[in-house]
Order: sequence, then structure tokens, then C-alpha cells
Amino acid sequence: MAAISNNAQYKIFFDVDYTLLGVDGSLRPNARDALQRLVDDGHQIYVWSGNGIRWRDIRKHELESLVVDCIEKPVTDYANAVSTMDIKPDLVVDDHLEIVAALGGVWARTYYFPNSKDNEMEDIFRVITEWAQTGASDDPRFRAPSRY
Ligand SMILES: [Mg+2]
Repeated sequence: MAAISNNAQYKIFFDVDYTLLGVDGSLRPNARDALQRLVDDGHQIYVWSGNGIRWRDIRKHELESLVVDCIEKPVTDYANAVSTMDIKPDLVVDDHLEIVAALGGVWARTYYFPNSKDNEMEDIFRVITEWAQTGASDDPRFRAPSRY
């Protein structure tokens, strides 16, 4: 059953390396569950990477049913690069602060090594949901989206 929600619904672009996956390619704890709940709330999940189009990783972790598309992430001049894209992020989730500051989103704690106690995906879900419900978040790692 679909989640009942009055949330605004957004295109949310997730980074791959050190955001969803560790250095060994393992999936961050609770990533699938958090992405599933975002989808249930009506959001559209995109996966982008500066290291190419990552369907192989997404399929390896059986996330393909949750992801609308995998695309190439600009690595510089983010706002200008995004302005030329047909589909633009409403919010980005990335361990690299510069792109979050440029486009708006959630600055994710860097995930290098497998750590079953990592709870970041839950924090990310909470911040996104707060923003979708209220239009803002007081979380220090939240950056309000810019309009381009
Ligand atoms: Mg990264």
C-alpha cells in the first residue's frame, strides 16, 4: 500500500561513492530502507556520480526498482551544469559539501569503511522529510535549494 502523505514530492539526487557506498563497494546501512521510504512518500530517486553511470552498482545492491535513472554528475561549476540538464535535482545528497552548497540538499557524513552502526541514512531521511513537510530544516548539514 502506498504511503499516505501530504508531503511535497521531489526529485532527490544521491551521490554514490562515500554517500551510498563505502570504498569496498558495500551499501551503507539502511540505505535500501531509507530510499524505499522516500519512494513511498512520493519522491523520485536519481543516482548520479562523477565516476560514470552507476547502474552496475545499483543492480548489484538490488536498488534498481527504487531508482528512476542513473546519470552523470557534473564535477565542477555545478549550478551552470545543472541549468542545462533536462531533469534537475530539487535536492542533492552528497558527502562533498561544495555541490550541496551550490545546489541545496543534505551534506552526508562520508562513509568510507563498512560500519554497521552508521545511522546516516536515517538522519538523511529525517532531514528530507522535515524539508518536504515544512519547506525548511534546522539541521546544520541542510542547505536550502537554489533555483536555477
Ligand atoms: Mg561522494
